Amino acid sequence: MSNASLVIANWKMNGNRALTRNMSEVLRDNQADFKGVNVVICPPYTLLSEMAGHIYYDDVALGAQNVSEYESGAHTGEVSVAMLQELGVEYVLLGHSERRAEQHESDQLVAAKAATVTQAGLTAVICVGEDKAQREADNTWSVIQAQLEKSLAGLSAKQMARVVVAYEPIWAIGTGETASPAQAQEVHAKIRGWLVENYQQVGAKTPLLYGGSVKANNAESLFSEADINGGLIGGASLNGEDFCAICRAA
Ligand code: PEP
Repeated sequence: MSNASLVIANWKMNGNRALTRNMSEVLRDNQADFKGVNVVICPPYTLLSEMAGHIYYDDVALGAQNVSEYESGAHTGEVSVAMLQELGVEYVLLGHSERRAEQHESDQLVAAKAATVTQAGLTAVICVGEDKAQREADNTWSVIQAQLEKSLAGLSAKQMARVVVAYEPIWAIGTGETASPAQAQEVHAKIRGWLVENYQQVGAKTPLLYGGSVKANNAESLFSEADINGGLIGGASLNGEDFCAICRAA
């Protein structure tokens, strides 16, 4: 039985207008198969408006892959929460390992962005995860715990109610090497315990997503784990049929 009810597509720097149309048509045609599952599409900024125009049915929401920590002003190249809200964006991915590595985003910056996003009433999807060396050195939990502590620092219980945590082991992202359901569940159970300890009832309800080479053929076994409440999907979210198969498994 699945414990999942939220599936988020992260297109990264991929996609075009044709994909927004194709994806919304495939989702529309298949949505009866995954009724009750909340589906979020996070295309690049340039396709948000186009995608918004195609979402005309229930249970599919729009997400962004990043946002500025500032509200407005002289920040060339940045995009604010208000700008995203105007397009109907409801979710924002924060602290993805690719941004942490390529844009040198720190936990402190992730926390500042999480504050801005949740204050505005949007949902922040906070990504955490260890690399291969950290796992092999048995440091997985200490890495994740530190990321949680620092990336969520300063959020009120009300803001925490607008947080989703995505566990994405870096060694599994885009590699085809998925964490086994047991490996993922072990970390998810610890994240759940930490959230409950720190945020009580709110932490008990925080959706926990697994991300890292989730495909149509492994989604069901991952989603059947007790503390896996859904998935953050990269590569497999670029194909409508594959993505729908994952949504169906939720
Ligand atoms: C991701 O980038 O968030 C991700 C999980 O990618 P993939 O599914 O391709 O591993």
